[in-house]
Amino acid sequence: MLLKDRICVITGAASARGIGKATARSFAEQGGRVVILDLDVGQAEAAARDLGAGHLGLACDVTDKAACRAAAEEVLGHLGRVDVLVNNAGITQPLKLMEIEAAHYEAVTDVSLRGTLYMSQAVIPAMRAQRSGSIVCMSSVSAQRGGGIFGGPHYSAAKAGVLGLAKAMARELGADGIRVNSVTPGLIQTDITGGKLTDELRAEIAKGIPLGRLGVADDVAKACLFLASDLSAYVTGAVIDVNGGMLI
Ligand code: NAD
Repeated sequence: MLLKDRICVITGAASARGIGKATARSFAEQGGRVVILDLDVGQAEAAARDLGAGHLGLACDVTDKAACRAAAEEVLGHLGRVDVLVNNAGITQPLKLMEIEAAHYEAVTDVSLRGTLYMSQAVIPAMRAQRSGSIVCMSSVSAQRGGGIFGGPHYSAAKAGVLGLAKAMARELGADGIRVNSVTPGLIQTDITGGKLTDELRAEIAKGIPLGRLGVADDVAKACLFLASDLSAYVTGAVIDVNGGMLI
């Protein structure tokens, strides 16, 4: 059991086919007690129930600093500590450069970047007091290659910002026993991407991927499990690519 009795908070984890939910499942299978945060409390609670007994679902809009703090306090009140935070919540918009208006920019950067900052700030005091913790930040291959298939340039910018923020946090928090790492998924079939993929497009995309297929949420969940657990005890400030070789 890699995460036995560890308290693991995952943002944006209510979406049934999402990376967050798959990560929640893998953490629960490894003995973790999972707290699912998402926009809708009903969906978050249902997702937590799906994992079995002892898990928690709470509403939390990660763009709202007070909401992040309140969620962290509720977790600490119920479960007493926070061992793992996965900053997974994210949205994308398939826009071209000149189509991006202020509201688009704010919406996309707020969830990925502001959300990562606010939720991390909310749990860091408890992790510091424990002198241990692992924070995993969800970036994207879009940050590295300057665009994905569905994300606009503002999405690439937000996800590149996540990489910088995670590395800066890793530097500052290492002395407190807190590790911070990032995951950069390639094209993973979830609700963000799934509905937009025809069979032809999927086959076309797969041709450009050395491992010959698109990713599934479990592929990313396994990298998160490694980073959350003591298997990665000497890993901080790192970026793990989970993209089937899309970017080599
Ligand atoms: P998804 O849409 O299935 O899940 C995203 C979740 O985030 C949803 O449950 C949504 O309700 C939640 N969310 C949105 N705004 C929120 C907010 N303000 N506060 C709290 N929760 C919020 O998408 P996914 O594909 O599972 O994506 C998960 C993460 O992985 C995202 O950060 C995404 O950018 C990243 N990512 C996905 C892919 C891919 O191909 N699917 C590739 C690279 C990176």
